[in-house]
Amino acid sequence: MRTLNDLSFANQRAVIRVDFNVPINENGDVTDRTRIEAAKPTIDYIRAQGGSCVLLSHLGRPKGVDLSQSLQKIVASVTEVLETPIQFCPTTVGEDAEKKAQNLGPGEVLLMENLRFHPEETEGELSFSKQLAQLGTIYVNDAFGTAHRAHASTTIMAQFFNENKCFGALLEKEVLAIEKVMKTGVSPILAIIGGAKVSSKITIIESLLEKVDHLLIGGGMVYTFTKALGGSVGNSICEPEYCDYALTLIEKAKAKGVKIHLPVDVVAGDSFSNEANQKTFDVMEIPDGWEAMDAGPKSIQQFDELVLNCKTILWNGPLGVFEFPAFAKGTIAIGESIGQATKGGAFSLVGGGDSVAAVKQFGLASKMSYISTGGGAMLESLEGKSLPGIEALQD
Ligand code: AMP
Repeated sequence: MRTLNDLSFANQRAVIRVDFNVPINENGDVTDRTRIEAAKPTIDYIRAQGGSCVLLSHLGRPKGVDLSQSLQKIVASVTEVLETPIQFCPTTVGEDAEKKAQNLGPGEVLLMENLRFHPEETEGELSFSKQLAQLGTIYVNDAFGTAHRAHASTTIMAQFFNENKCFGALLEKEVLAIEKVMKTGVSPILAIIGGAKVSSKITIIESLLEKVDHLLIGGGMVYTFTKALGGSVGNSICEPEYCDYALTLIEKAKAKGVKIHLPVDVVAGDSFSNEANQKTFDVMEIPDGWEAMDAGPKSIQQFDELVLNCKTILWNGPLGVFEFPAFAKGTIAIGESIGQATKGGAFSLVGGGDSVAAVKQFGLASKMSYISTGGGAMLESLEGKSLPGIEALQD
């Protein structure tokens, strides 16, 4: 992995693929700067070394030029986060763009217009990629969130830089965190997979069976498993067409020595609402008219013991309908258990989708070793796929 430390940026122009795809409200204000803050260490490092920075990003999904999705809108926020005035280029490639980039002095920053104003970006078109490459002398990729896409700026342009390309600090952290689970994880390794549906997690579960010692299945996926095992699921979310698959998975896990953990009890509601009447049932005996929406107290206790015994913990997907505060206890409890295990020396990675939202919402973020910034890229990494943006940085 070639990182920032391996290259000299003095008097060089770094063209950096960042992920500034931030939420913007109807007044045109950036409502969450997390992604800009996440790119700051890389930009600061290059500036401190005496290099200049040309920033490339997409914003939204414009079909051609659409000024309502111009990156001009984020200039003030980027300036504030970077604590330095930045320049904005209203084009992304071409003569004027190249001139502006070439005129940058050491430490200066230029933000280019939205990459996706050009359909060639997502097509990964070669001559557009070459034009992007003209903007800098060193290519840095710091956009983990798009590393699973073979787009012009995330992958294809890398080939024009020979060895003058590297991982940005954020991308490096993401890749190392995933490796700490998938390659160098210290046993016992636990994967907690929650969320709504088995069908959307099949490839991840299959891939994790090769790596982990324990697999905790939570959330709405549970009831496809319990139905397959002969339980009654009442009105709980269930994919009967995946029951056979669930049984195969249990067999596969057994053969590989992976222990599967399901909740033993669940909290159900008499309607899908936060205000529903609640009752706790054995997970195998949920009556009609009741929908299981959270892990029960015995399960929470058992999961806590399991988590505290593990040295490497991956968490993807909530253990219940955490959007309803009345059914968020299991999700909060597992987050707290992971936090405690982390304090005791375990490595914990939270990634992909709603568990990241839950961790942030319940104030648990600082208790985790690492929280991934990339949804799709994280999921594909867990599925064991290699990401084109990362391959392109390697020789
Ligand atoms: P995913 O994107 O697959 O991680 O799924 C996240 C969603 O799963 C969240 O919106 C949760 O509300 C939902 N979920 C978790 N547990 C349940 C459950 N028992 N019944 C229905 N939905 C659930």
